[in-house]
Amino acid sequence: MTSGRVNPQFRLEDQGIEGLGNVHYNLMEPALIEAALKRGEGTLGNGGAFLVTTGKFTGRSPKDKHVVRTDSVIDTIWWENNAAMSPEGFDTLYADMLEHMKGREFFVQDLVGGADPAYAINVRMVTELAWHGLFIRHLLRRPERAELDSFLADFTIINCPSFKADPARHDCRSDTVIALNFDKKLILIGNTEYAGENKKSVFTLLNYLLPEKGVMPMHCSANHAVGNPVDTAIFFGLSGTGKTTLSADPARILIGDDEHGWSDRGTFNFEGGCYAKTINLSPEAEPEIYATTHKFGTVIENMVFDEETFELDFQDSSLTENMRCAYPLEYISNASENALGGHPKNIILLTCDAYGVLPPISRLTPAQAMYHFLSGFTSKTPGTERGVVEPEPTFSTCFGAPFMPRRPEAYGKLLQEKIAQHGATCWLVNTGWTGGAFGTGSRMPIRATRALLTAALEGSLNEAEFRKDENFGFEVPVAVPGVDTQLLDPRQTWADQAAYDAQAAKLVSMFAENFEQYAPYIDDDVKAVAIG
Ligand code: ATP
Ligand code: MN
Repeated sequence: MTSGRVNPQFRLEDQGIEGLGNVHYNLMEPALIEAALKRGEGTLGNGGAFLVTTGKFTGRSPKDKHVVRTDSVIDTIWWENNAAMSPEGFDTLYADMLEHMKGREFFVQDLVGGADPAYAINVRMVTELAWHGLFIRHLLRRPERAELDSFLADFTIINCPSFKADPARHDCRSDTVIALNFDKKLILIGNTEYAGENKKSVFTLLNYLLPEKGVMPMHCSANHAVGNPVDTAIFFGLSGTGKTTLSADPARILIGDDEHGWSDRGTFNFEGGCYAKTINLSPEAEPEIYATTHKFGTVIENMVFDEETFELDFQDSSLTENMRCAYPLEYISNASENALGGHPKNIILLTCDAYGVLPPISRLTPAQAMYHFLSGFTSKTPGTERGVVEPEPTFSTCFGAPFMPRRPEAYGKLLQEKIAQHGATCWLVNTGWTGGAFGTGSRMPIRATRALLTAALEGSLNEAEFRKDENFGFEVPVAVPGVDTQLLDPRQTWADQAAYDAQAAKLVSMFAENFEQYAPYIDDDVKAVAIG
């Protein structure tokens, strides 16, 4: 039996996917929630939010993500960063998965990745879980209903959590698998219920496809000034650095919170929704995001709630620190209608420095911006993994190594050209620790970060007096109205300034050591600003 609306020439059978049980095409939100409830996938929460837990996997499984080593991509994939899978392994995986799917109920969503029609791709998402259908409907872009009648997919993604891969048969690492086949235009996901895999698969796809069209794909959030898309800002950053938090700025229009492209026409969101962390989410500091947790259809993933009142517990991280909510862009009241922006006027590189060394904001030259883009420094904060007691610095190139199928220089060069052509001002913002490293100091107040960003984006910060930082070479403002002056100079915030100097020296040498790998690929101007 099938239900729903679909291009009659493009059913699953037309793609060679046959013998399934009930198939539901393009159900809308209420029907998806009804199906998910009937199947016992989750619970209806306050305001009609949908509450789910995902079992063993509450985060991505980057090591289980494979790119299929086909002839057409063999010379372009960055294999040191992307685990390979043989074409034969993939074919067996696909055959076994199709066999496993027989007789089971599936949900199909025909969606679009990319708000700019010139660079958009059509994605068909086939999910075993009804709530994954709901999730991806929020996260990607939803075509008009009438457009579904002629929808053809550029890529198809099958997500079947009940399927376990077999490393010996399928040439993968474990029984959890995410396999991208660029030739077959197919992505297969098995044995994980964590919803983020769905959206990051599409991101990985676009990160591969767009550079060939001269479009820079970016792991960043974006917003623009009210009534003025020409005044666009983008915020690069690894997980937990504040992309979602800081782009939701009541004084600006939200373009998107995680994935964007930069073409000759300007910036565009890849997505149609947001996926925000909810740990310690406060209605005062982040009112817009907080409000979405009580809206119809918002997917609340891995949050503890009161069984009687369905009250969410934002402090209880017993299921995971990575608890999240997913909602369509329009749930943020000042979101852009078309998810398009201009060429970025300001580029912000976010870092969460748990060492408490980097200033809350610094101005970068284009060469320094390239250096920090390739470095991709941040810290995993203790507590996010069991047994981690020291801050764990990581360098993840392009602020998103797990999603980059090509070599870092491919993205670096594109970004460098675009910055040179459009003359963006670049900033490094530390949303991590101040007054000492983790354990001694405290997290940068969101209010201070917001005040500094407001000054940067309005242009007033450019007029401030700057000092040159002796460790890192970038420019740091000396005073900014509305911000505690001491906060601007991290050394002054430490009780023990010799300890600051030692910590800074340690960080400098870490930067230097990490950057060695890029030396053969970069221009002299970037080499000239290398740290250490
Ligand atoms: P992901 O890529 O995983 O979605 P992200 O970059 O979007 O990550 P956020 O979801 O914005 O990261 O997470 C930032 C977290 O840090 C939030 O929980 C926020 O409340 C907290 N936070 C604390 N201080 C700050 C600050 N000064 N600036 C930004 N975020 C802060
Ligand atoms: Mn985010």
